[in-house]
Amino acid sequence: MTFDYDAIVIGAGTGGLAAGIALKQGGKKYLILDKKEEIGVPVRSTGAVSMEWVKKIGMPTDPNIVRSLIKSIWFRTDTGKNISLKYEHPVGLVYDFTTYEKFLSKEMAGDLDIRMKTRVTSVEGNEVTTDGETLTAKHIVMAAGPQSTFGEKLSRDNVLVAYEEVRELPKREDYEMILWFSDKAPGGYFWDFADTDSTRKIGVCYYPKTQAKPKDVLSEFTKNFPEVDGKLVSTIAHQIPLGAPLETVVRENRLYVGDMVNAVLNTTAGGLQGAFWSGMAAGRAIVNDNPSLYQGTWDSDIRPWLMKHHELHRRMNKNGAKSIGRLMTMAKFMPKSMQKKVFGGL
Ligand SMILES: Cc1cc2nc3c(=O)[nH]c(=O)nc-3n(C[C@H](O)[C@H](O)[C@H](O)COP(=O)(O)OP(=O)(O)OC[C@H]3O[C@@H](n4cnc5c(N)ncnc54)[C@H](O)[C@@H]3O)c2cc1C
Repeated sequence: MTFDYDAIVIGAGTGGLAAGIALKQGGKKYLILDKKEEIGVPVRSTGAVSMEWVKKIGMPTDPNIVRSLIKSIWFRTDTGKNISLKYEHPVGLVYDFTTYEKFLSKEMAGDLDIRMKTRVTSVEGNEVTTDGETLTAKHIVMAAGPQSTFGEKLSRDNVLVAYEEVRELPKREDYEMILWFSDKAPGGYFWDFADTDSTRKIGVCYYPKTQAKPKDVLSEFTKNFPEVDGKLVSTIAHQIPLGAPLETVVRENRLYVGDMVNAVLNTTAGGLQGAFWSGMAAGRAIVNDNPSLYQGTWDSDIRPWLMKHHELHRRMNKNGAKSIGRLMTMAKFMPKSMQKKVFGGL
């Protein structure tokens, strides 16, 4: 049987773009479909990633796509516990999200084959139907993010709501990244990330156990910490899947990546690295015409890394912010070098 494409990728977020890069580099005929108008718009993510993992999995570090480098971190609870870490070299970076995703789509491997403004309405066997036509492909990469009807249904127990406001605030001289753990953000935290010289990213993520709106939760927090109050520039809101990573990521000719398989570090709610790594691994498996290679990499490397964070997150949040406060107190007895390794590697 002949197909229109070796692979169709559904979704042009980090996961789908990474798969596209691997497919292009492997000389495959592929097409990425996305319902959005523009790559990287709307902004989907704060864009913070760990330098260690960026290097390990080959994410880009081009200075033009980096908004800020993280060398100083302050973990706090809203009840006053804290641990502060300063590094000689950056342990993390914050992407300029839109230029970062555009870079994946254009510069990392050259222009990818992408069709925007194209909503996939169904996937049956080798057929992918969009709002305009039906295309066929030997393999299909499912990279449609956490809210897709093609993925697992998310429940209140395995998803965080996340909301961020870019606010007019001067650049901090002391910390590029502050996380506050609080029972007002169960399972998640409040954050303050460096952005430009005149703006910072202030946000919150939490399990939606109550009906409280994220905007109101953030505004309540701001009343207690007026140092993060500033004129609103822009907002983002989305869901973050925060359950255990799925066990099966390949089903027949479909390879599931990124948020669709909970490839999110549960400790930090960061999903860009998991999306990139799983997308690349899925693309490379297709280049080898062997999807089970992706399941193999998932089982041996990606899932164990995610599970470590999943277990740690469960322990950290067992008794809410109290458990995290205790962890911070314990960490104070660790040598500084170990503290830096434990917290900087997140
Ligand atoms: C407020 C917030 C802050 C965050 N901050 C960070 C952070 O600092 N660091 C970090 O690592 N992670 C962060 N994350 C998480 C991270 O953004 C996600 O884990 C990551 O973007 C997931 O990538 P993905 O490719 O799996 O999905 P997505 O980026 O969601 O891409 C899915 C794509 O599929 C498309 N699509 C969906 N359905 C269809 C369809 N039917 N047809 C066609 N196209 C479709 C969508 O338009 C979308 O472009 C944050 C998330 C939020 C909400």
